[in-house]
Amino acid sequence: MYRPKATCTMTQDETRLPALSANLCASDTMPGMGSNTWIIDTDASDHMTYDDNMFDELSHIPRDPYITSANGLSSPVTGEVRRCVSNKVHGGSVKDKQQLWLWHRRLGHPSFGYLKHLFPSLFSSCDESSFKCETCVMAKSHRTVFPLSNNKAALPFELVHSDVWGPSRVTSHGFRWFVTFIDDCTRLTWVYLMKHKHDVAYILPVFCAMVSTQFHASVKVFRIDNGGEYVNHTLTQFFRDQGIIHQTTTPFTPQQNGVSERKNRQLLKVARSFLLDMYVPHHLWGHGVLAAAYLINRTPSRVLDFKTPLDILCAHTPPLSVSKLPPKVFGCVAYVHVYSHQRSKLDPCALRCVFIGYSTTQKGYKCYHPPS
Ligand SMILES: [Zn+2]
Repeated sequence: MYRPKATCTMTQDETRLPALSANLCASDTMPGMGSNTWIIDTDASDHMTYDDNMFDELSHIPRDPYITSANGLSSPVTGEVRRCVSNKVHGGSVKDKQQLWLWHRRLGHPSFGYLKHLFPSLFSSCDESSFKCETCVMAKSHRTVFPLSNNKAALPFELVHSDVWGPSRVTSHGFRWFVTFIDDCTRLTWVYLMKHKHDVAYILPVFCAMVSTQFHASVKVFRIDNGGEYVNHTLTQFFRDQGIIHQTTTPFTPQQNGVSERKNRQLLKVARSFLLDMYVPHHLWGHGVLAAAYLINRTPSRVLDFKTPLDILCAHTPPLSVSKLPPKVFGCVAYVHVYSHQRSKLDPCALRCVFIGYSTTQKGYKCYHPPS
């Protein structure tokens, strides 16, 4: 389970947006939070906002008639408060609230009721109902929720659910689709991005080979919908050769395939919140979905009695070498060190990049450098 700690292989500034300069210290600089929310910087001498509705009391004779912002421009001060009276700050330690907001954004916008299970001590001074997240409202899906089933397979890979999503209107490095494989026992999720829908015919055998080599196990049953991408000669032959049962659900009733249907919705909700929260360009949605799967596999789940999918898998298999990097806010600014042999003496020692997820092949973060 993630606990706050400061280990990193790059330098990030999770409060900074790639698209905005950090020259404001009050409300509305942080997307995703309501416009009536103050963001308190404990090191700042003053906080400012353009909205006088944010004050309970306002003096129209300020101490300083002008303020100068980081870009050198001066702006008039129309009023000020001589004591901290905003009712939005009351009710809870400011530092605890800041921590909770940070974890909410790092973990892909889970509910605050869920965060209360992970960080009970941070809620000792605040009430979960006091948190209102605009990004969550905008990213949330409103479709009917199918009832959760608690009947799970006894062993990993006895039953694997799968579903294909797409096509996305926006391509992400050439990808327009993704396929998910969800182990019924552990709820561990694998996501593969695809350029074409029919790519599932070669990705599914790749997934089975990975299960065999990494976990010394064989998939016994695949439960998938009747999508044509799975019902083709190549896969039918593969299932037959491997002795795998291919269960299909009734056409036009995807709720029978509830596990993968729900997982896809969860992945998309988290990915959408990543993009909305930090104004990340839509063409990076593929990285958002992969980062969502990485986090979901490593965070406690209600369906698993607040254990993580990886914890459950580790209880069934020999010790695994699993990457557990501390999570960061998707889309935050990351400064990536450039080694001396990769630059000249006058070049900068770091590149200003955007954090876009977690590498699954190396213990490291994925960063995007728009100019290159
Ligand atoms: Zn949120």
